Amino acid sequence: MTQISDIVLVPAISPPNAGKGTQIALFEEKHPGQVKSVVMGDMLREIASQDSELGREIKSYIDVGKFAPLPTVLSALREGIGQTLEKYPSTRVIILDGFPRDLEQAQELQLLCQEWNTKIAKVLYIDVKDEECLSRAVNRRYCKHCNKVFNLKTKPFENCGKSECDGQLIQRKDDVQEIAEGRLNTFHNLTDPILPFYKEHGVEIVSVDGQGDINDIAEDVERHLAPVITAGVS
Ligand SMILES: [Zn+2]
Repeated sequence: MTQISDIVLVPAISPPNAGKGTQIALFEEKHPGQVKSVVMGDMLREIASQDSELGREIKSYIDVGKFAPLPTVLSALREGIGQTLEKYPSTRVIILDGFPRDLEQAQELQLLCQEWNTKIAKVLYIDVKDEECLSRAVNRRYCKHCNKVFNLKTKPFENCGKSECDGQLIQRKDDVQEIAEGRLNTFHNLTDPILPFYKEHGVEIVSVDGQGDINDIAEDVERHLAPVITAGVS
């Protein structure tokens, strides 16, 4: 059975709307079976749906719209990684999406890595300027009918396109300027300090320019992260 000590972790960090999820998915697709992502929010919901003590505890927080406390989140991370390895035993790298979010989480993860006898191979940082993050948020529209995402700047349509479903495009309530700015400020206040922390611990931060063609960005990610798969735990 594949153990946590057989794999390495790569936390992925970016400001909101940097396209991180897309890039992680593309990297995963290029390395089927070997690279898996654990998306913190999705994983918590998944565990909350399971009939276990931990699941019921997480569900009790989700049900009232609260964040679970850090020790619970860490138990969930351990459980989530364990379940991933059980399902996909050929996994060599796990990309962490949405964790760590602040310095305290980064410190705790460092301790967990010691306990698990694994390491953080690299940190992926997708760099997108504040102005661009905000522009992506306020120009984002959803098709009311099929949920397809549009950016009014690159696809200035009024509806989902005749060939497809022709649904009306709507804006999500939290994609307005003030709320998008709030999300960005939270990111800078909470998450920025993680990068110097990893530098101090000698973890390489791979900074990829997240502005440009999706496939060019994916090539950059591939160039930096593919070696991690073969290197594994040293
Ligand atoms: Zn549509």
